[in-house]
Amino acid sequence: MQTQLFINGAYVDAASGETFDVLAPATEQVLARVARAGAEDVGVAVAAARTGAKAWQALTPAAREACLLKAADLVAAQGMERLLDILIDESGSVINKARMEVRYTVDLLRTAAGEARRLYGETFPNDNPSRISMVMREPLGVVAVISPYNAPLSLLTKMLAFPLAAGNAIVVKPSEETPLIALALAEILHEAGFPDGVVNVITGFGAECGAPLTNHPGINCIALTGSTTTGKLVGAQAMQRMLKTQLELGGKSAVLILADADPVKAANIVAQGIFTHSGQICMANSRAIVERSIYPELVDAIIAICRAMPIGPLRDESSVYGPLINRKAVEKVQAIVDDAVSKGATLLYGGKVRDGLVYEPTILANVPHSCLAWREELFGPVLCISAADGIEDAVSQANDADYGLSSAVLTRDIAKAMYAAKHLEAGAVHIGMHAFQSNALAPIGGSKLSGIGRSGGAYSTEEFTEVKWISMELNPDV
Ligand code: NAD
Repeated sequence: MQTQLFINGAYVDAASGETFDVLAPATEQVLARVARAGAEDVGVAVAAARTGAKAWQALTPAAREACLLKAADLVAAQGMERLLDILIDESGSVINKARMEVRYTVDLLRTAAGEARRLYGETFPNDNPSRISMVMREPLGVVAVISPYNAPLSLLTKMLAFPLAAGNAIVVKPSEETPLIALALAEILHEAGFPDGVVNVITGFGAECGAPLTNHPGINCIALTGSTTTGKLVGAQAMQRMLKTQLELGGKSAVLILADADPVKAANIVAQGIFTHSGQICMANSRAIVERSIYPELVDAIIAICRAMPIGPLRDESSVYGPLINRKAVEKVQAIVDDAVSKGATLLYGGKVRDGLVYEPTILANVPHSCLAWREELFGPVLCISAADGIEDAVSQANDADYGLSSAVLTRDIAKAMYAAKHLEAGAVHIGMHAFQSNALAPIGGSKLSGIGRSGGAYSTEEFTEVKWISMELNPDV
């Protein structure tokens, strides 16, 4: 299978004619040969988007809403077959995670459709009675949408549906690991009636087409979901042109388990929050901080879960997770686990590759907080577990982190839960749940090194529009 770029409503080869191979994580075999875009293709795509933006903004909100609703219907109709297969083969998702993505994608498109009618402005009082002040909300123009590999359908949809609803055109640069699902989504959007040039997809590598895209003078805003390393680079460049950016970056989320929680039930929640999709989830609770009185029971329960965890074929209904995305990712996880053990951490379970790119569920205890395993995002199925003396100590350990994406607290004690909600340094605190939660209306985003901006519902509309102050003299002396 060979794919092309999608520019101005048509499929075209990269100007260089070059391609690159996309591998299936489960087999490490070539899945597709994909067009390899460069700076020249970026120029063509941005020019198409600038023209597309004008056509798109000329449509009524109802027409934009209709395109997004139609896209939602098409995903709902086709999603559970074709899109599911691509997600499983290209990103190594187990079938249940792939289904979850498709359902969330439909929800995001419908939620964004509603936003198309909500580009509210306002008026505000003026001390001069002959003057009126109002605020108009306008789209930004062309948004560069740069997406990661881990939830390549739903995250891409979250990043593109809201700017589109607000009247922007987009140029998408999906992860080089998962371009096929982005091309499939573009095809659906085209079928849903988005005018030519409104949605463009260029496939290729960060340095070769991502950087020329974010640096292109025809781009008005950058939405990037990816690692903090990439976010810092792109953010610094964007600041040279004072571009609006929405940066959704890495995480090292903590889940606190307080003494009143049932250790077995809590262990199940913690396990779901870290092992889903092999831990390749930005909000995964990769650190569990447990009140000392239930620490031994919780550790036993979580080891039992790891022992029994079905890690089978991707299309098996019971499989919890599958392979990591590529060999480099496996090597990174192994190096950080080995480093922690060499610095005094206790390996309670796992700690090695099981098969191919599948890494064992891994539990580390007594991890020094200076270690990469505690501080850095592994993006693998590795849980650091730590004992705490009371809620204040638990919160303080959780906050001893450079990231601040999500967090969770498992307790029935409302006062302690609210203490945690108030004091945890993160973009979200989930009470009675794990840290990996989604809601199309929620303001998703992080504090500290986890990013800038919030996405979801009206929060995205705010990010992808600009306000303009209009004032009017009712008796002009002109
Ligand atoms: P990555 O940073 O390697 O790549 C993300 C995207 O940026 C890719 O499309 C890549 O090609 C592109 N890119 C790389 N260098 C670039 C450059 N110089 N200029 C422009 N674009 C460039 O991230 P990844 O490995 O694909 O994804 C995993 C990361 O994403 C993890 O850190 C994870 O936490 C994060 N993530 C965050 C969220 C969130 O909501 N905060 C959600 C999902 C994933």
